[in-house]
Amino acid sequence: MSAVLPLPEPVSRNPNRQSDPRVVQREQAKLAKRLRRQVGQAIADFGMIEAGDKVMVCLSGGKDSYTMLDILLQLQRKAPVPFELVAVNLDQKQPGFPEHVLPQYLRSLDVPFHIIEQDTYSVVSRVVPEGKTMCSLCSRMRRGALYSYAAEHGFTKIALGHHRDDLVATFFLNLFHHAKLSGMPPKLLSDDGRHVVIRPLAYVRESDIIEYADARRFPIIPCNLCGSQENLQRKQVGLMMKQWERESPGRLETIARALGDIRPSQLSDQKLFDFLALGHRDGAVLADAHAWLAGEAHDSGA
Ligand code: SF4
Repeated sequence: MSAVLPLPEPVSRNPNRQSDPRVVQREQAKLAKRLRRQVGQAIADFGMIEAGDKVMVCLSGGKDSYTMLDILLQLQRKAPVPFELVAVNLDQKQPGFPEHVLPQYLRSLDVPFHIIEQDTYSVVSRVVPEGKTMCSLCSRMRRGALYSYAAEHGFTKIALGHHRDDLVATFFLNLFHHAKLSGMPPKLLSDDGRHVVIRPLAYVRESDIIEYADARRFPIIPCNLCGSQENLQRKQVGLMMKQWERESPGRLETIARALGDIRPSQLSDQKLFDFLALGHRDGAVLADAHAWLAGEAHDSGA
């Protein structure tokens, strides 16, 4: 049975925060409860986990995936249905990757885990021209390796640590750079149709994760050990979101809620809403658009 580390002695790195340890501890307990509630809600709303599931929890060593694993383990202990959690990390052989950190941490939790070793770093750094960001190819290769492992080992779900702010950022990236209203869904079928991917942190704010990871003192492994820079467009969207949140607190939450409240009849996608049928009278002839634009008399069909 998996165990969850007890919350360590409260630490506050925020100078403005109350320094009374009991107050800090109460705040941290409230935060942990909020995260459990939000993750539980996302699991329930999207049917992410069901009895008998074998869930591969993808662990990168970053704050998001540590938080996801930690909260899932807490929920697993109270869950009314049995399911399995296995932490899986891909060691991509980036220079300086501290390979002992995750096994040591996971053994201390008594969590079943596996480390896949695959040198995607050499491939990515060979293929991507110098000065260009390597993250997109690196992520694709990571996904490929993790998905193959999941297929070979009978996992029924793959859990990724993307949070609410990732979902919102992806929405804006698609809007600004790909002219489409599309994002990062809390649950999806992988492109090859073989895997169900879940994002249990879909309702969780990044700022809460930062605070939780800090309080839990997760042994964070930075992603940018390889020295690659984040994609510029993503960086710009991140800055825009930060500024919004500073100037209009709560705006990101409003946007995240809007992603779950879509009104096709109030947009313009003819594939989602039949605008032609709206107000159409039986037997009335619709003008041919080309003929209309060319100013030709349309054939009444008589
Ligand atoms: S920072 Fe490095 S390890 Fe992280 S996704 Fe980008 S290329 Fe991959």
